[in-house]
Amino acid sequence: MGFGFTYDEDQLSLQRTVRKFTDNEIIPVRQHYDETEQFPWPEVKKMHELGIHCMNAPEQYNGMAFSNVTLCMVTEEICRGCLGIAITPLANMLASEPVLYGGTPEQWDWWFPSICQEGKLASYAVTEPGAGSDVANIATTCRRDGDYYLINGVKIFITNGRHADKFTVLATHDRSKGNRAQSFFMVDAKTEGVSIGKSEHKMGMRCSETSEVIFDNVRVHKSMRLGEEGDGFKLAMKAFNSSRPFIAAASVGVAQGAFEVARDYARERKAFGKNIASFQAVQFMLADMAMEIEASRLLYQKAAWLLDEKLMAADLSAMSKCFAADMAMRTTTNAVQILGGYGFCRDYPVEKMMRDSKILQIFEGTSQIQRVIIGKSVIG
Ligand SMILES: Cc1cc2nc3c(=O)[nH]c(=O)nc-3n(C[C@H](O)[C@H](O)[C@H](O)COP(=O)(O)OP(=O)(O)OC[C@H]3O[C@@H](n4cnc5c(N)ncnc54)[C@H](O)[C@@H]3O)c2cc1C
Repeated sequence: MGFGFTYDEDQLSLQRTVRKFTDNEIIPVRQHYDETEQFPWPEVKKMHELGIHCMNAPEQYNGMAFSNVTLCMVTEEICRGCLGIAITPLANMLASEPVLYGGTPEQWDWWFPSICQEGKLASYAVTEPGAGSDVANIATTCRRDGDYYLINGVKIFITNGRHADKFTVLATHDRSKGNRAQSFFMVDAKTEGVSIGKSEHKMGMRCSETSEVIFDNVRVHKSMRLGEEGDGFKLAMKAFNSSRPFIAAASVGVAQGAFEVARDYARERKAFGKNIASFQAVQFMLADMAMEIEASRLLYQKAAWLLDEKLMAADLSAMSKCFAADMAMRTTTNAVQILGGYGFCRDYPVEKMMRDSKILQIFEGTSQIQRVIIGKSVIG
C-alpha cells in the first residue's frame, strides 16, 4: 500500500475542468443568489450535466463513483466559488451515504436512477427540534404495522428539503432504548403524509434550501428500511464519517476563495504610500492563511484516503472537519480584515464567505462534537 501527495493526470484534468466551471458559472452569479435567496436551479442543472451532482453514486446508474480523494478535490474547487450553490450536490451525497452502506442492490435501484439520470435531489433527514448533536435522542417514531412502518415526527434544518425527491430518514422504534432502536428508511417525498414546513432564512449559504420536513403517519414498506431493524444509528455514524472529509474539503474551498481575494487586494491596495502587502503584519496574516489552508488540505486528503483504503477512521474524519471548519472561519474573518472597510461591504465577496463559513462549524457535527469524538479517541 503506497502513499502519495500528487493527483494523477485524470484527477488534474478534472480539477482544471471544475475550476474553470467555478470561475465561469458559479463566481459570476454567487452574489445574486446570496442576495435574492433564490434556489440556484440553473447551476444545479449545470452541475448535473458536468457529472458532479451526486459524486458518490455508483457507475451503473451513470454516477461518477469518484474515490473519496477525488470527490473531496472536486468539492474544494466548487466551494471556492460558493458554498451556498455547492451544498446542493453535497447534500445529495450525504443523503446517499446510508443507502450506499446499508442498501441492497434493489434499494440502490430505487434510490439512484432519478438522482443520477434525471438530476433529482435528495435529503438526509436526521435533525429534529429536540435533537441535533444528540442523534441518539431523536423522537421521530417508526411503528411496525404488518409489512409496513408508520413514520411520525418532525425533522428540521433539512438541506434540499423542499426540493427533494427522496429522503433518508432516521426514526426510532423505542426512544427509551436510545441509539440501539433506530432505523433508517428511504422515503419518497410524494408519499401521503410527507409535507414541508417552513424554510429557514439564514446568515450564510442563503440560496440553499433548508426546511422543516413533517412525517404524519407516513406508510413505508419494510423493503424501504436500510439494513436490519436497529442499524440506523450505526448507518448515521458511518455516513458522518464519510461526509466529514468532504465538509473539510468544502471548508478549504471557501478559505482558498477568501485567501485569493485578500492576497490580490493586498497587492493592489495602497496605504502610507505602499502596497499593504508590503506590511509585515498583512503578510503574516496571508502567510498564516496559506499555511493553515495547506494543513487542512493535507488532513482532508488523508481522511479521504483512509476511507478509500477501507481504513475508516472516525477520529481522522472528525479532525479533518473540525480543523478545516475552524480554519475557514479564521481565514475568512482575516480576509475581511485585510480588505478593511471594503471587506465589510457587499461589493467584495469576503463578507459572504465569512457568513458562509459559520455553518461549517455547526452542521454534520459541531466543532465541539468533533472534539468530543477526538477526545474519546485520544484518551482511549
Ligand atoms: C443550514 C443548515 C443545514 C443543515 N442541514 C442538515 C441536513 O441536511 N440534515 C440534517 O439532518 N441536519 C441538518 N442540519 C442540522 C445540523 O446538523 C445541526 O444543527 C447540528 O448537528 C447541531 O445540532 P443543534 O442545532 O440541535 O445544536 P445542539 O445540539 O443543540 O447544540 C447547541 C450547542 O451545544 C453544543 N453541544 C451540544 N452537545 C455538546 C456536547 N456533548 N459537548 C459539547 N458541546 C455540546 C454544540 O456544539 C452547540 O454549540 C443543518 C443545519 C443547518 C443550520
